[in-house]
Amino acid sequence: MKNRIVVLALALALVLSLAPGPAAGAPAKIKIAKEKQAVLDWLARPEAVEEFGKISDRIWEYAELGLQEFNSSKLLADTLEAAGFTVERGLAGMPTCFVATYGSGKPVIGLLGEFDALPMLSQKGRVPKKDPVVEGAPGHGCGHNAMCTAAAAAAIAVKEAMAAHGIKGTIKVFGSPAEEIVASRPYMIRAGLFEGVDAVIDNHSSSGFGTEYGVGGNALFSTVFTFTGKTAHAAGAPWVGRSALDAVEIMNVAANYLREHLQVSQRLHYVILQGGEAPNVVPDKASVWYYVRNTDERLEDMYKRVIDCAKAGALASGAELASMKVISAIHQRHANKAAAELIQKNIELVGMPAWSEEEQAFAKALQKELGAEEEGLPVKVDPLEAPRGGQSFGGGSSDVGDVTLIAPTATIGFPGAVPGAIGHHWSNVACWYGSTAWKGLNAGAKAIAASAIDLLTKPEDLAKLRKEFEEYSKTHPYKPFLPADATPANDLNKDLMDKYRGLLEKALEIR
Ligand SMILES: [Zn+2]
Repeated sequence: MKNRIVVLALALALVLSLAPGPAAGAPAKIKIAKEKQAVLDWLARPEAVEEFGKISDRIWEYAELGLQEFNSSKLLADTLEAAGFTVERGLAGMPTCFVATYGSGKPVIGLLGEFDALPMLSQKGRVPKKDPVVEGAPGHGCGHNAMCTAAAAAAIAVKEAMAAHGIKGTIKVFGSPAEEIVASRPYMIRAGLFEGVDAVIDNHSSSGFGTEYGVGGNALFSTVFTFTGKTAHAAGAPWVGRSALDAVEIMNVAANYLREHLQVSQRLHYVILQGGEAPNVVPDKASVWYYVRNTDERLEDMYKRVIDCAKAGALASGAELASMKVISAIHQRHANKAAAELIQKNIELVGMPAWSEEEQAFAKALQKELGAEEEGLPVKVDPLEAPRGGQSFGGGSSDVGDVTLIAPTATIGFPGAVPGAIGHHWSNVACWYGSTAWKGLNAGAKAIAASAIDLLTKPEDLAKLRKEFEEYSKTHPYKPFLPADATPANDLNKDLMDKYRGLLEKALEIR
């Protein structure tokens, strides 16, 4: 019996795989509303693919780190403004944060968009082996160059459809800086930017094309611990000195022992920002930057224990714990199921882009270089991913988490990365430039725009999201982890960006 079911399932899968998918032209049976067809047609124009592809490539070239995305943010904000959006810039205490708005009244649909790069990942686009543009410079190792670009493309398509078809409501793009250091959304929420927003469509680059619902990722405290001590001749009279670096090292040893006694959902990592300048002077200042990650329920307890490790470092070394600057603190993602189901239908409608032979050849060459399976780029969209349930197994974090607790939200993962390419790694930087990125972000923009049209034109669909959200909020009310006195770390990446901006501009001939 079981075997027969397997055979039937295989036969069905084969029939489905041979059937022409939506990518090969809209299937006859699905009736697409004219408003939705309008956004799909607008984005399908070669000029639209090219316009937003070029914006994505330019942001990839800028490779600006969090809160230093002056050129990237301006390019996106200017594009939206030129398309008829009202743009407010420099919001929530962050010069690179913006909100672009079109329309008025209810419903208000928000699109999230990111544009920051990662340090140390510089890599030439579409070159399938490690080959930096500028050694040590930042690079887009998470596809964020394509993400706010996809949101902007979708928003402009929606605006065109709203104007042409008399659709009521408001569409907003939330230009969100510094996602790689998860450092904008809690501040944007605190500043009231999301007030009145009925639903949010988020997006992230991926190798597949899909969405998910339920609880995911990890909550996070991002904090810089700074110690002060006393300088002294490190050989002549070391007994006079109190080493701030010793405090950092003892804290790190204590934190590494702490790992053993935390639930498996934890992630804990750090870099030393400051550790003295020469071995023969006892360092009187040292600092270490920690990411403390766990589930929403376990985060605060774990964070307290890491603070105890810092206190232990100070006590043992005789240095002082001078400050604990919280850069950001965020929740896990709580994606809305009704939103994910609505988005999934639109992902299936849009379908996976048709990849060229050249694109498949690049993908296989990169997979070969990485020792991954040489499977090329995917040809089908992903099924809707259900939550893993119960135990969270840790992993990365995104400050979209806080947004999911103030409005019904789900994330569209759009294609463009090569399966097997590694996140936050040169291989991912290589993928997010040129034609695969152009096609992937365009497919993502179509799914975002089509979903926004559903929410703007079908009150019953929006009501479903809202009902689920209101129920969920009763047991998960939003209480920010971000301390009330925290302020955006606008200068955290300034020195690094100042060092590399000119070098990147020169190497890539950016004027
Ligand atoms: Zn990312």
